[in-house]
Amino acid sequence: MGTEAEAPGTPLVEVRELYKHFPVRSGLLSRRTGAVHAVDGVSFTLRRGECMGLVGESGSGKTTVGRLLLRLLEPTGGQVLFEGRDVSHAGADELRALRRQMQMIFQDPYSSLNPRMTVEQMIREPLAIHRLAHGSERARRVAELLDVVGLGGEHARRFPHEFSGGQRQRIGIARALAVNPKLLVCDEPVSALDVSIRAQVINLLRNLQREFRLTYLFIAHDLGVVRHIADRVAVMYLGKVVETASKPALFARPLHPYTQALFSAIPVPDPEAKRDRIILQGDVPTPIDPPSGCRFHTRCPFAEEVCRQREPALTEAAPGHRAACHLVTPERLAAGDVPTPRTAALRSAGVQPARNP
Ligand code: SF4
Repeated sequence: MGTEAEAPGTPLVEVRELYKHFPVRSGLLSRRTGAVHAVDGVSFTLRRGECMGLVGESGSGKTTVGRLLLRLLEPTGGQVLFEGRDVSHAGADELRALRRQMQMIFQDPYSSLNPRMTVEQMIREPLAIHRLAHGSERARRVAELLDVVGLGGEHARRFPHEFSGGQRQRIGIARALAVNPKLLVCDEPVSALDVSIRAQVINLLRNLQREFRLTYLFIAHDLGVVRHIADRVAVMYLGKVVETASKPALFARPLHPYTQALFSAIPVPDPEAKRDRIILQGDVPTPIDPPSGCRFHTRCPFAEEVCRQREPALTEAAPGHRAACHLVTPERLAAGDVPTPRTAALRSAGVQPARNP
């Protein structure tokens, strides 16, 4: 039985003003000439037992956030707290203990598995590193984990190349679960898989989450996948979180113009259904020299002078729904005067609607 502090819904991970800048070097002496602002002041809380989807285009910084959570990368600034303990500044022993609680599932199951190890050896390895289960107990644990992810004992002595992509991802999941973690960071876990087996792996992850009361940070660019598995969603653009909300609220009414553009690109299965397609102008700006003010202003159909001058804060527009946009405030939301997918589509097509239709 968990303590009150471990009750579902209480904070498990708190990310505070997290930064990661990668130096850019050039010239014969390899002098530092700039920095890639991969993550630039990201804050959010992951609650116990929830699955938070982290979405955005490639280069938005979402994978870097996942790696910073587990301290696979050193942050440039800010903090990650896991059950109140500071992951970002933990010493080697404390970090090893923390890593037992936090595991990662990688995008490419093949390159994340050691080709020279059998499945059994790979699942035993984290048990040995963390000194968990001994002797025959370890063999029992391996068999149990294979069963949990839908593989059989006959797979234990095989090598990664003998498996399909979906089976390899199941091995990766079994390996991550071996140490009984509380948090799984799933980094695009199905994007390298055939469409036909994506649903199987997603369903497996959902079932495991319920069975073991896991907390997920689920990183994806595929909003269809996030819609299937996430409880809450955070949207990233150029190193910053621009919107967070519960999944139903976000999918029913995205408030940030960038989220609206992302959602407008989701394929609709019904050919009769109409969707306002928002065509963003220009490319994603370079994270080496991000735009001033709101980073989205170079592509936003609603950009005004204030957007170029001043950075919008991530503020609550409706209960539990935050957006970083000068045009999204509780007052404007109540008055129905916020960007909508319809007005965004009209503006992106060069039409200036007089007011929100
Ligand atoms: Fe667009 Fe301005 Fe809002 Fe940024 S702050 S999303 S540029 S309207």
